[in-house]
Amino acid sequence: MKILAAVFEREGRLVLKDRPRPQLKNESDVLLKVTGVGICGTDLHILQVPPAHPAKKDIILGHEFTGEVDEAGARVSELKPGDRVLVDPHPGCGLCYECRSGNPDRCIALYTSAEPGHCATIGIFSDGAMTSYIVVPAHALYKINPDVPSSIAALAEPLACVVSASEKLKVQPGDNVVVLGSGPIGLLFTLIFKACGAAKIIVSEISQYRREKARECGASRVVDPHNEDLAAIVKEETGAGPDLVVEAVGPLIPEAIDLVRSGGKILQFGHDELAKPAIPVAEIVRKEITIHGAFIGKFSFNKLPGIMESGVLQLDRVVSHHLPLSKVNEGLDLLRRGKGIKIILYPEECA
Ligand SMILES: [Zn+2]
Ligand SMILES: [Zn+2]
Repeated sequence: MKILAAVFEREGRLVLKDRPRPQLKNESDVLLKVTGVGICGTDLHILQVPPAHPAKKDIILGHEFTGEVDEAGARVSELKPGDRVLVDPHPGCGLCYECRSGNPDRCIALYTSAEPGHCATIGIFSDGAMTSYIVVPAHALYKINPDVPSSIAALAEPLACVVSASEKLKVQPGDNVVVLGSGPIGLLFTLIFKACGAAKIIVSEISQYRREKARECGASRVVDPHNEDLAAIVKEETGAGPDLVVEAVGPLIPEAIDLVRSGGKILQFGHDELAKPAIPVAEIVRKEITIHGAFIGKFSFNKLPGIMESGVLQLDRVVSHHLPLSKVNEGLDLLRRGKGIKIILYPEECA
């Protein structure tokens, strides 16, 4: 049986093709019916020419997804057909030095594994979920209440990243924060900081559409850095400077260093392989700034069913479009033009 799939054919090209429906091979695997898959900024980076993110050619993209168990392998006792699940697309190999040091988010097999779906990131280095069915290892799955809409459950991967990153920051009620960039990641940070009791949340974003979304997610002030003086506004709002700056774009760490208060923290989340900003080292030293890097989720998936089922974060505000999978290239174009936030695709059978 053939199913429609969005395949990363070659540099800059995502093509809809028929692929054979996958089948269970290992007893610890699960066959999922995909019920929703998000388009990530990373997918845009992969499809950029030249690419701003590595990926394996000829794989199906889609690493932010949710699904329903269709068939569970013989050794999978925790899940049964019909269960709805969140998926961690990079659960770690469990064998490398990093995994065995408690850091599966830095698993060395993420980029290199030869065994699809087990170690290499699903949807970047092995076949992903921009299709109707996918086989994943059971240890990558987290059961969730089926009342949570697929459009919300498909946010699990970016939310896991942001929850893990937020744990490094320990935002306290009354803190002032600046978020540079209000794509899906910037908005998820904004929602979390609001829930943590941040006093001022200033969001800098060039797209008017995205600035409006930032307001909806709890920004106390939004700034257009191309037409307004961001540094002056941040100073006016915070006096000494914000306690924390999140860089959710890629090349803006010099701006973050300039904005943050002495002794403050910067979180570098945006990552663009092509961005090589010049770092003002002396300012880091003089201001005694702490800079954190944050990549993917680390043991944060466990918290996601609770976050999604309780509704503590208004995650629906991050989702801008719902499209059938066949319109994936339309969705990519919307994002390139800054006219979307998180676009959720649905395989035809679910649309
Ligand atoms: Zn992603
Ligand atoms: Zn590993």
